[in-house]
Amino acid sequence: MKAIPVPAFNDNYIWLIQNPKSSNIAIVDPGDAKPVIKQLEKSGLHPVAILITHHHGDHVGGIRELVSKYGMPVYGPGAENIPDVTNKLDDGDKIVLQELGATFDIMGVPGHTLGHIAYYGHNKLFIGDTLFISGCGRLFEGKPEQMYHSLGKITALPDTTEIYCAHEYTLANLGFANAVEPNNKAILSKIKNCKQRRELNLPTVPGTVNEEKQTNPFLRAHVPEVIAATEQYAGQHLNNPVEVFAQIRSWKDNF
Ligand code: ZN
Ligand code: FE
Repeated sequence: MKAIPVPAFNDNYIWLIQNPKSSNIAIVDPGDAKPVIKQLEKSGLHPVAILITHHHGDHVGGIRELVSKYGMPVYGPGAENIPDVTNKLDDGDKIVLQELGATFDIMGVPGHTLGHIAYYGHNKLFIGDTLFISGCGRLFEGKPEQMYHSLGKITALPDTTEIYCAHEYTLANLGFANAVEPNNKAILSKIKNCKQRRELNLPTVPGTVNEEKQTNPFLRAHVPEVIAATEQYAGQHLNNPVEVFAQIRSWKDNF
């Protein structure tokens, strides 16, 4: 299974999932129909499904136009009010996309929004705005403990899992990660690598679960250096990883 990025707006990625054996694809989080249609017409790809992770406009804005042009089912979180969703999904569900030859497990990952879901299959995770490469989504609706638990579901996946998020925020996230852990060599080498990719206008997405565990401060609330730096930022002793995580989130919000 292949994932093709379609850049949209300033820094969004709309992912096209393609089985290389056919020209059928699924579209993940089409916030805008125009760049998707352009890409489909250019490459002769045929959309068979839309997969939605959460209700924000930059993820759902293009659904109606795509459905009226191509006609296809729209999968999305059952717990969120997204009018064009035809197949409502919840944590633990499984979807089979026959025309794509693909199967995805649905993971509930609340935090950024309360009904946010992710699609996991074929060693790939389509995570929307829950986790970004070396960062995580803002807590617009959920509580820190919810997001901490959601991120734990991601780190429980195999190390080689490829993570496809919906925004190109990596370099800014790594700048913050470097401030939290100035001596973390994995972060320093990832900065170098991602700078080169951005200079060539290449995406820094996907990352892998293993890379994220080494470089993403939001997945490192249990690491002594991260705890020490975060306690210094907070000016207080922090009692558990959720408290550390909450302070890292507020530190990043003000960074
Ligand atoms: Zn969002
Ligand atoms: Fe977004």
